Amino acid sequence: MAKRDFYEILGVDRKASEGEIKKAYRKLALKYHPDKNPDDKDAEERFKEAAEAYEVLSDSQKRAQYDRFGHDGMRGAAGGGAGGFGGMNMDDIFSQFGDIFGGGFGGGGGGGGRRRRMKGSNLRIKVKLTLEEIANGTTKKVKVFKQVQAKGAEYSECTTCHGTGQVRRVTNTILGQMQTATTCNACQGSGQRLKSRPSGSDEWGMVREEAVVEINIPGGVEDGMQLSVRGEGNGAPMGGVPGDLLVVIEEIPHETLKRNGKNLHYDLYVNFADVALGAEAEVPLISGRAKIKVEPGTQSGKLVRLRGKGLPAVDSYGKGDLLVNINVWTPQKLTDEERKALEKLRSAANFQPEAEHNERGFFDKVRDLFQ
Ligand SMILES: [Zn+2]
Repeated sequence: MAKRDFYEILGVDRKASEGEIKKAYRKLALKYHPDKNPDDKDAEERFKEAAEAYEVLSDSQKRAQYDRFGHDGMRGAAGGGAGGFGGMNMDDIFSQFGDIFGGGFGGGGGGGGRRRRMKGSNLRIKVKLTLEEIANGTTKKVKVFKQVQAKGAEYSECTTCHGTGQVRRVTNTILGQMQTATTCNACQGSGQRLKSRPSGSDEWGMVREEAVVEINIPGGVEDGMQLSVRGEGNGAPMGGVPGDLLVVIEEIPHETLKRNGKNLHYDLYVNFADVALGAEAEVPLISGRAKIKVEPGTQSGKLVRLRGKGLPAVDSYGKGDLLVNINVWTPQKLTDEERKALEKLRSAANFQPEAEHNERGFFDKVRDLFQ
C-alpha cells in the first residue's frame, strides 16, 4: 500500500510552520489516542501514521530531505532517527509526547515518561430471559459487585519509578550500551501508589461494592449471546478507565412454543374427526392466542404458517413466523360406543390412506411454505 503524504496526514500546508505542525499533530494524537479508542485498529493505524508524519516534519533536516525526495528519501536516510521508517512502535510514539504535551499524557506531572491510566477488568453476569421478554426487548436491573475506589484512598508518587510509570534499564550489547524503558511493575505504569490503605481495601485502594446496573436488552436476543455494557465493569483507581459489564443471555424455555432462530414452532394436536371434517383450533402466541382453520381433509404433519407471529431479529428488521405443525391425536382409551363407530369406519370400503399423501416429507413441506 502506498504511503500517504505526511503533510496530508497532518492536514497542513507544505509551508506550515513548526508551530502549525505541532498543533495539527497534537489534535490528531488526542483524537486517535489508544486510551480513547480501545481495540480500534483503524484509530491505532491513524495514531501511528500521524506520529510518523510528525517525527519527520518536526525535524528540519528530515523535513528538508522528505520535501526533496519524498518517502524514498526517508528510506535511504542512514541512521534515520527513531528506529527507521514504517516501524515506529507505541513506546517511540509516547516518548514524543513529553515534547508535545509538556510532560506526561493524561496524568500531568513531569518526567516526560508515559504514565498509563489504570484499567478496570470486565465483569460477566448471566441474565435469564423469558421468551416474552425476548420478543419485546426488555430492561433489566441487575445487582453486581464491582470494584470501586474506596473513600479516602490517597495516592502518592511511586518511589520505584519516581512517578514516571517507566523503569529504564541499561543493557550491554555488541553495539554498545542500550537503554530500554519498561513499564514499572510496582505501580503498573500509573506512576502512583496507594499512600495509606483504607480499611477493607486492596493494595490499590479498591473495595467491592454492590451496584445496580440497568441493562437495555434488545428484542430477538438468543441463548448464549453476549451483550457488552460499556464502563459498567470494575472501576480502576486514580480515575482510570472502568471495564465493561458483559451480559450473557440465558433463555428460559417456553412451555409450549419452541424457538428456531426468529421462528417459533408449535405442535398442535387435533382429533381425527376434526382433521377429517374440518374445524377451528386455537394456538398460543407469545402473548395471547390465535385461531387457525383446520381444513377438511387435513393430513397429519401439515404446517400452517402465521406470518409475523415469531420473534424479532436482533440484527435486522422484520419478524419471524409461527409455524404450526398439525398432528392427529390418537385416542388411547375408547368407550364402547367410540370403538363401535371406529370399527364401522374401518370396514368401510375406501377408508384407506392414499400413497400420494406420504410423498412429501417434513423438510419438503417447510421448504414449500417459504417459497
Ligand atoms: Zn512506578
